[in-house]
Amino acid sequence: MNVPFVDLKTQYNSIKPEIDLAIKNVISKTSFIGGEHVELFENNFSKKYGVNNCISCANGTDALYITMKMLGIGPGDEVVTVANSWISSSETISQTGAKPIFIDCDSQYYTIDEKLIESKITKNTKAIIPVHLYGQMANMSEISKIATDNNLFVIEDCAQSHFSKLNNINAGLFGDVGTFSFYPGKNLGAYGDAGAIISNNDEYSKRFRLYSKHGAIKKHEHVIEGVNSRMDGIQAAILNVKLNYIEDWTLKRNLNADMYLNSLNVVKEIVLPKIRANSTHSFHLFVIQAEKRDELKVFLKNKNIETAIHYPKALPALEAYKKYNYNLDEFPVAMSLSSKILSLPMYPELQENQINYVSESIREFYNQNN
Ligand SMILES: *Cc1c(COP(=O)(O)O)cnc(C)c1O
Repeated sequence: MNVPFVDLKTQYNSIKPEIDLAIKNVISKTSFIGGEHVELFENNFSKKYGVNNCISCANGTDALYITMKMLGIGPGDEVVTVANSWISSSETISQTGAKPIFIDCDSQYYTIDEKLIESKITKNTKAIIPVHLYGQMANMSEISKIATDNNLFVIEDCAQSHFSKLNNINAGLFGDVGTFSFYPGKNLGAYGDAGAIISNNDEYSKRFRLYSKHGAIKKHEHVIEGVNSRMDGIQAAILNVKLNYIEDWTLKRNLNADMYLNSLNVVKEIVLPKIRANSTHSFHLFVIQAEKRDELKVFLKNKNIETAIHYPKALPALEAYKKYNYNLDEFPVAMSLSSKILSLPMYPELQENQINYVSESIREFYNQNN
Protein backbone atom coordinates (compact mmCIF):
# COMPACT_ATOMS: atom_id res chain seq x y z
CA MET A 1 0.00 0.00 0.00
CA ASN A 2 1.00 3.58 -0.65
CA VAL A 3 -0.12 6.51 1.51
CA PRO A 4 0.90 9.92 0.18
CA PHE A 5 0.97 12.86 2.58
CA VAL A 6 -1.62 14.75 0.52
CA ASP A 7 -3.45 13.63 -2.60
CA LEU A 8 -4.75 16.53 -4.65
CA LYS A 9 -5.32 14.36 -7.71
CA THR A 10 -8.03 12.19 -6.15
CA GLN A 11 -9.92 15.30 -5.13
CA TYR A 12 -9.59 16.77 -8.62
CA ASN A 13 -10.89 13.55 -10.18
CA SER A 14 -13.91 13.61 -7.88
CA ILE A 15 -15.02 17.02 -9.25
CA LYS A 16 -13.25 17.03 -12.62
CA PRO A 17 -16.18 17.94 -14.92
CA GLU A 18 -17.11 20.97 -12.79
CA ILE A 19 -13.53 22.20 -12.47
CA ASP A 20 -12.75 21.77 -16.15
CA LEU A 21 -15.89 23.66 -17.09
CA ALA A 22 -15.10 26.47 -14.65
CA ILE A 23 -11.60 26.90 -16.07
CA LYS A 24 -12.88 26.82 -19.65
CA ASN A 25 -15.40 29.47 -18.76
CA VAL A 26 -12.73 31.87 -17.48
CA ILE A 27 -10.62 31.38 -20.59
CA SER A 28 -13.52 31.87 -22.98
CA LYS A 29 -14.38 35.10 -21.20
CA THR A 30 -10.70 36.08 -20.83
CA SER A 31 -11.44 37.25 -17.29
CA PHE A 32 -7.94 36.33 -16.19
CA ILE A 33 -7.38 38.88 -13.44
CA GLY A 34 -10.16 40.24 -11.26
CA GLY A 35 -13.54 40.18 -12.99
CA GLU A 36 -16.77 38.33 -12.39
CA HIS A 37 -15.37 35.07 -11.01
CA VAL A 38 -13.31 36.89 -8.43
CA GLU A 39 -16.26 39.05 -7.43
CA LEU A 40 -18.45 35.97 -7.19
CA PHE A 41 -15.89 34.25 -4.99
CA GLU A 42 -15.71 37.22 -2.62
CA ASN A 43 -19.50 37.18 -2.34
CA ASN A 44 -19.73 33.41 -1.95
CA PHE A 45 -17.00 33.30 0.66
CA SER A 46 -18.38 36.17 2.76
CA LYS A 47 -21.87 34.66 2.64
CA LYS A 48 -20.72 31.18 3.61
CA TYR A 49 -18.40 32.55 6.27
CA GLY A 50 -20.88 35.01 7.69
CA VAL A 51 -18.77 38.15 7.35
CA ASN A 52 -19.43 41.57 5.78
CA ASN A 53 -16.29 41.90 3.70
CA CYS A 54 -14.00 39.54 1.83
CA ILE A 55 -11.06 41.02 -0.07
CA SER A 56 -9.31 38.58 -2.38
CA CYS A 57 -5.56 38.84 -2.85
CA ALA A 58 -2.63 36.92 -4.31
CA ASN A 59 -1.77 34.67 -1.35
CA GLY A 60 -2.03 34.26 2.43
CA THR A 61 1.27 36.01 3.10
CA ASP A 62 0.09 39.12 1.27
CA ALA A 63 -3.17 38.98 3.24
CA LEU A 64 -1.19 39.38 6.48
CA TYR A 65 1.11 42.06 5.09
CA ILE A 66 -1.67 44.15 3.54
CA THR A 67 -3.65 43.95 6.78
CA MET A 68 -0.84 45.12 9.02
CA LYS A 69 0.29 47.82 6.64
CA MET A 70 -3.23 49.28 6.45
CA LEU A 71 -3.76 49.05 10.21
CA GLY A 72 -0.83 51.44 10.41
CA ILE A 73 1.72 49.00 11.81
CA GLY A 74 5.29 50.00 11.03
CA PRO A 75 8.78 50.83 12.31
CA GLY A 76 9.03 51.02 16.10
CA ASP A 77 5.97 48.83 16.60
CA GLU A 78 5.83 45.32 18.01
CA VAL A 79 3.46 42.54 17.01
CA VAL A 80 2.99 39.45 19.13
CA THR A 81 2.70 36.03 17.48
CA VAL A 82 3.37 32.37 18.20
CA ALA A 83 6.77 30.64 18.17
CA ASN A 84 5.57 27.62 16.16
CA SER A 85 4.08 28.54 12.79
CA TRP A 86 4.91 28.98 9.12
CA ILE A 87 7.27 31.92 8.58
CA SER A 88 4.54 34.04 6.91
CA SER A 89 3.05 34.76 10.34
CA SER A 90 6.21 36.57 11.40
CA GLU A 91 8.07 37.65 8.24
CA THR A 92 5.16 39.91 7.32
CA ILE A 93 5.57 41.68 10.67
CA SER A 94 9.19 42.45 9.81
CA GLN A 95 8.19 43.51 6.28
CA THR A 96 6.16 46.37 7.76
CA GLY A 97 9.20 47.48 9.74
CA ALA A 98 7.76 46.25 13.05
CA LYS A 99 9.38 43.58 15.24
CA PRO A 100 7.93 40.09 15.77
CA ILE A 101 7.60 39.24 19.46
CA PHE A 102 7.27 35.50 19.87
CA ILE A 103 5.20 33.71 22.50
CA ASP A 104 5.67 30.04 23.35
CA CYS A 105 2.94 27.60 22.42
CA ASP A 106 0.53 25.88 24.70
CA SER A 107 1.74 22.35 25.49
CA GLN A 108 -1.68 20.76 24.97
CA TYR A 109 -3.11 22.53 21.93
CA TYR A 110 0.08 23.84 20.25
CA THR A 111 -1.47 27.28 19.64
CA ILE A 112 -0.21 30.54 21.18
CA ASP A 113 -0.07 30.27 25.00
CA GLU A 114 -2.48 33.05 25.93
CA LYS A 115 -1.23 33.02 29.54
CA LEU A 116 2.14 34.35 28.38
CA ILE A 117 0.93 37.15 26.11
CA GLU A 118 0.50 39.93 28.67
CA SER A 119 4.05 39.57 29.98
CA LYS A 120 5.31 40.50 26.48
CA ILE A 121 3.12 43.53 25.89
CA THR A 122 4.92 46.89 25.91
CA LYS A 123 3.91 50.43 24.97
CA ASN A 124 5.01 49.58 21.41
CA THR A 125 2.77 46.56 20.98
CA LYS A 126 0.12 47.13 18.31
CA ALA A 127 -1.36 43.74 17.48
CA ILE A 128 -1.63 40.04 18.29
CA ILE A 129 -1.53 37.45 15.51
CA PRO A 130 -2.85 34.15 16.83
CA VAL A 131 -2.47 31.24 14.40
CA HIS A 132 -5.09 28.48 14.43
CA LEU A 133 -2.36 25.99 13.82
CA TYR A 134 -3.13 22.63 12.16
CA GLY A 135 -6.82 23.67 12.19
CA GLN A 136 -6.99 23.94 16.01
CA MET A 137 -8.57 27.12 17.35
CA ALA A 138 -6.42 29.34 19.55
CA ASN A 139 -8.05 30.42 22.81
CA MET A 140 -9.84 33.37 21.23
CA SER A 141 -12.04 34.22 24.23
CA GLU A 142 -8.95 34.98 26.32
CA ILE A 143 -7.00 36.57 23.48
CA SER A 144 -9.86 38.94 22.65
CA LYS A 145 -10.01 39.99 26.31
CA ILE A 146 -6.27 40.71 26.42
CA ALA A 147 -6.53 42.68 23.17
CA THR A 148 -9.42 44.81 24.46
CA ASP A 149 -7.68 45.48 27.78
CA ASN A 150 -4.50 46.58 26.00
CA ASN A 151 -6.05 48.27 22.98
CA LEU A 152 -4.48 45.92 20.44
CA PHE A 153 -5.61 44.72 17.02
CA VAL A 154 -6.23 41.00 16.62
CA ILE A 155 -5.37 39.52 13.24
CA GLU A 156 -6.23 35.82 13.04
CA ASP A 157 -4.01 33.80 10.74
CA CYS A 158 -6.58 31.32 9.38
CA ALA A 159 -4.38 29.83 6.67
CA GLN A 160 -4.77 26.38 8.26
CA SER A 161 -8.25 26.77 9.73
CA HIS A 162 -10.95 27.38 7.10
CA PHE A 163 -14.27 26.92 8.90
CA SER A 164 -12.75 25.86 12.24
CA LYS A 165 -15.08 27.00 15.00
CA LEU A 166 -14.97 28.02 18.64
CA ASN A 167 -18.29 28.38 20.49
CA ASN A 168 -19.84 27.95 17.05
CA ILE A 169 -18.11 31.06 15.69
CA ASN A 170 -15.87 30.67 12.64
CA ALA A 171 -12.13 31.24 12.84
CA GLY A 172 -11.38 34.77 11.67
CA LEU A 173 -14.49 36.34 13.18
CA PHE A 174 -13.14 36.92 16.68
CA GLY A 175 -10.53 39.50 15.81
CA ASP A 176 -10.53 42.65 13.72
CA VAL A 177 -9.37 40.71 10.69
CA GLY A 178 -8.96 37.11 9.50
CA THR A 179 -6.45 36.17 6.81
CA PHE A 180 -6.63 33.11 4.57
CA SER A 181 -4.42 31.18 2.22
CA PHE A 182 -5.83 29.10 -0.62
CA TYR A 183 -2.49 27.49 -1.44
CA PRO A 184 -3.27 24.16 -3.18
CA GLY A 185 -2.56 22.00 -0.12
CA LYS A 186 -4.68 24.07 2.28
CA ASN A 187 -8.17 22.84 3.27
CA LEU A 188 -9.70 25.11 0.65
CA GLY A 189 -7.05 25.12 -2.05
CA ALA A 190 -6.79 26.76 -5.46
CA TYR A 191 -4.66 25.43 -8.33
CA GLY A 192 -2.00 28.04 -7.72
CA ASP A 193 -1.53 30.86 -5.20
CA ALA A 194 -4.52 32.74 -3.81
CA GLY A 195 -5.53 34.41 -0.54
CA ALA A 196 -8.14 36.58 1.15
CA ILE A 197 -8.77 38.98 4.01
CA ILE A 198 -12.08 39.03 5.88
CA SER A 199 -13.38 41.69 8.24
CA ASN A 200 -16.62 43.08 9.58
CA ASN A 201 -15.05 46.53 9.71
CA ASP A 202 -16.01 48.34 6.49
CA GLU A 203 -13.45 51.13 6.89
CA TYR A 204 -10.50 48.75 7.29
CA SER A 205 -11.83 46.62 4.45
CA LYS A 206 -11.86 49.59 2.08
CA ARG A 207 -8.22 50.29 2.90
CA PHE A 208 -7.20 46.65 2.43
CA ARG A 209 -8.80 46.63 -1.01
CA LEU A 210 -7.24 49.96 -1.93
CA TYR A 211 -3.74 48.87 -0.91
CA SER A 212 -3.98 45.55 -2.77
CA LYS A 213 -4.82 47.41 -5.99
CA HIS A 214 -1.92 49.85 -6.21
CA GLY A 215 -3.77 52.33 -3.99
CA ALA A 216 -6.19 53.17 -6.80
CA ILE A 217 -9.78 54.18 -6.04
CA LYS A 218 -10.41 53.84 -9.76
CA LYS A 219 -8.23 53.31 -12.77
CA HIS A 220 -5.24 55.70 -12.74
CA GLU A 221 -6.42 57.45 -9.58
CA HIS A 222 -3.80 56.34 -7.08
CA VAL A 223 -4.49 58.00 -3.76
CA ILE A 224 -1.70 56.08 -2.01
CA GLU A 225 1.08 53.76 -3.11
CA GLY A 226 0.05 50.15 -2.76
CA VAL A 227 0.99 46.69 -3.95
CA ASN A 228 -0.12 44.39 -6.73
CA SER A 229 -1.89 41.54 -4.98
CA ARG A 230 -4.75 40.09 -7.01
CA MET A 231 -6.55 36.79 -7.35
CA ASP A 232 -6.60 35.17 -10.80
CA GLY A 233 -9.96 34.50 -12.42
CA ILE A 234 -9.03 30.84 -12.84
CA GLN A 235 -8.25 30.46 -9.14
CA ALA A 236 -11.50 32.18 -8.20
CA ALA A 237 -13.54 29.95 -10.52
CA ILE A 238 -11.91 26.83 -9.03
CA LEU A 239 -12.53 28.08 -5.49
CA ASN A 240 -16.17 28.78 -6.35
CA VAL A 241 -16.59 25.11 -7.25
CA LYS A 242 -14.66 23.85 -4.23
CA LEU A 243 -16.52 26.09 -1.79
CA ASN A 244 -19.58 23.88 -2.33
CA TYR A 245 -17.69 20.90 -0.93
CA ILE A 246 -15.74 22.43 1.95
CA GLU A 247 -18.15 21.42 4.74
CA ASP A 248 -18.25 17.85 3.49
CA TRP A 249 -14.46 17.75 3.21
CA THR A 250 -14.01 19.19 6.70
CA LEU A 251 -16.37 16.55 8.06
CA LYS A 252 -14.37 13.82 6.31
CA ARG A 253 -11.13 15.17 7.78
CA ASN A 254 -12.75 14.93 11.21
CA LEU A 255 -13.92 11.37 10.58
CA ASN A 256 -10.40 10.45 9.48
CA ALA A 257 -9.01 12.05 12.61
CA ASP A 258 -11.44 9.99 14.71
CA MET A 259 -10.21 6.82 13.04
CA TYR A 260 -6.59 7.72 13.79
CA LEU A 261 -7.49 8.60 17.38
CA ASN A 262 -9.27 5.28 17.91
CA SER A 263 -6.61 3.13 16.36
CA LEU A 264 -3.64 4.92 17.94
CA ASN A 265 -4.81 5.52 21.50
CA VAL A 266 -3.19 2.28 22.67
CA VAL A 267 0.27 3.47 21.62
CA LYS A 268 1.88 4.91 24.75
CA GLU A 269 4.93 6.25 22.90
CA ILE A 270 2.91 8.89 21.09
CA VAL A 271 0.80 11.88 22.12
CA LEU A 272 -2.36 12.34 20.06
CA PRO A 273 -3.89 15.72 19.18
CA LYS A 274 -6.40 17.07 21.69
CA ILE A 275 -9.32 19.16 20.53
CA ARG A 276 -10.03 22.34 22.48
CA ALA A 277 -13.37 22.29 24.34
CA ASN A 278 -16.34 23.83 22.48
CA SER A 279 -14.39 23.94 19.26
CA THR A 280 -14.50 22.28 15.85
CA HIS A 281 -11.07 21.36 14.54
CA SER A 282 -10.65 21.43 10.77
CA PHE A 283 -7.68 19.02 10.81
CA HIS A 284 -5.59 20.69 8.17
CA LEU A 285 -2.90 18.52 9.72
CA PHE A 286 -3.01 15.53 12.06
CA VAL A 287 0.04 16.02 14.24
CA ILE A 288 1.30 13.57 16.86
CA GLN A 289 4.25 13.78 19.22
CA ALA A 290 6.32 10.66 18.85
CA GLU A 291 9.21 9.08 20.72
CA LYS A 292 12.10 8.31 18.33
CA ARG A 293 10.37 10.59 15.84
CA ASP A 294 13.08 10.57 13.18
CA GLU A 295 13.40 6.78 13.21
CA LEU A 296 9.64 6.41 13.03
CA LYS A 297 9.54 8.75 10.04
CA VAL A 298 12.11 6.64 8.16
CA PHE A 299 10.33 3.41 9.14
CA LEU A 300 7.06 4.76 7.74
CA LYS A 301 8.76 6.00 4.59
CA ASN A 302 10.09 2.49 3.97
CA LYS A 303 6.49 1.33 4.15
CA ASN A 304 5.47 3.91 1.51
CA ILE A 305 3.84 6.16 4.10
CA GLU A 306 4.72 9.79 3.58
CA THR A 307 4.85 12.07 6.65
CA ALA A 308 6.01 15.64 7.26
CA ILE A 309 7.11 17.95 10.09
CA HIS A 310 5.31 21.23 10.83
CA TYR A 311 7.70 22.69 11.71
CA PRO A 312 11.21 21.29 12.15
CA LYS A 313 12.45 24.56 13.68
CA ALA A 314 10.59 27.00 15.90
CA LEU A 315 10.44 30.45 14.29
CA PRO A 316 12.75 32.24 16.79
CA ALA A 317 15.36 29.52 16.17
CA LEU A 318 15.51 30.16 12.41
CA GLU A 319 18.65 31.66 10.97
CA ALA A 320 16.51 34.48 9.56
CA TYR A 321 15.89 35.65 13.14
CA LYS A 322 19.46 35.54 14.42
CA LYS A 323 19.47 39.31 13.95
CA TYR A 324 17.03 39.69 16.86
CA ASN A 325 18.99 37.49 19.28
CA TYR A 326 15.90 35.91 20.83
CA ASN A 327 16.49 33.93 24.00
CA LEU A 328 15.41 30.44 22.95
CA ASP A 329 14.96 29.42 26.61
CA GLU A 330 11.77 31.47 26.50
CA PHE A 331 10.19 28.94 24.15
CA PRO A 332 10.63 25.56 25.88
CA VAL A 333 7.42 24.06 24.45
CA ALA A 334 8.01 25.14 20.86
CA MET A 335 11.65 24.04 21.05
CA SER A 336 10.80 20.63 22.41
CA LEU A 337 7.88 20.11 20.00
CA SER A 338 10.06 20.61 16.97
CA SER A 339 11.99 17.43 17.78
CA LYS A 340 8.88 15.34 18.54
CA ILE A 341 6.09 16.33 16.17
CA LEU A 342 5.13 14.33 13.12
CA SER A 343 2.30 15.11 10.70
CA LEU A 344 0.55 11.96 9.46
CA PRO A 345 -1.20 11.78 6.08
CA MET A 346 -4.46 13.76 6.28
CA TYR A 347 -6.98 14.71 3.60
CA PRO A 348 -10.69 14.12 3.02
CA GLU A 349 -10.12 11.38 0.44
CA LEU A 350 -7.91 9.28 2.74
CA GLN A 351 -9.35 5.75 2.93
CA GLU A 352 -10.07 3.74 6.05
CA ASN A 353 -7.70 0.97 4.95
CA GLN A 354 -4.95 3.55 4.47
CA ILE A 355 -5.51 4.92 7.98
CA ASN A 356 -5.45 1.39 9.39
CA TYR A 357 -2.23 0.69 7.52
CA VAL A 358 -0.58 3.84 8.93
CA SER A 359 -1.75 3.01 12.47
CA GLU A 360 -0.65 -0.63 12.23
CA SER A 361 2.72 0.45 10.93
CA ILE A 362 3.19 2.86 13.86
CA ARG A 363 2.26 0.09 16.32
CA GLU A 364 4.65 -2.27 14.56
CA PHE A 365 7.49 0.24 14.87
CA TYR A 366 7.11 0.56 18.63
CA ASN A 367 6.65 -3.18 19.11
CA GLN A 368 9.97 -3.75 17.35
CA ASN A 369 11.75 -0.92 19.10
CA ASN A 370 10.96 -1.65 22.72
C1 LIG B 1 0.21 28.72 4.32
C2 LIG B 1 0.32 29.65 5.46
C3 LIG B 1 0.45 31.05 5.27
C4 LIG B 1 0.74 31.69 3.95
O1 LIG B 1 0.00 31.37 2.89
P1 LIG B 1 0.53 31.53 1.39
O2 LIG B 1 -0.74 31.52 0.61
O3 LIG B 1 1.39 30.34 1.11
O4 LIG B 1 1.26 32.81 1.27
C5 LIG B 1 0.42 31.86 6.38
N1 LIG B 1 0.30 31.37 7.61
C6 LIG B 1 0.20 30.05 7.85
C7 LIG B 1 0.05 29.56 9.26
C8 LIG B 1 0.23 29.14 6.78
O5 LIG B 1 0.14 27.83 7.04
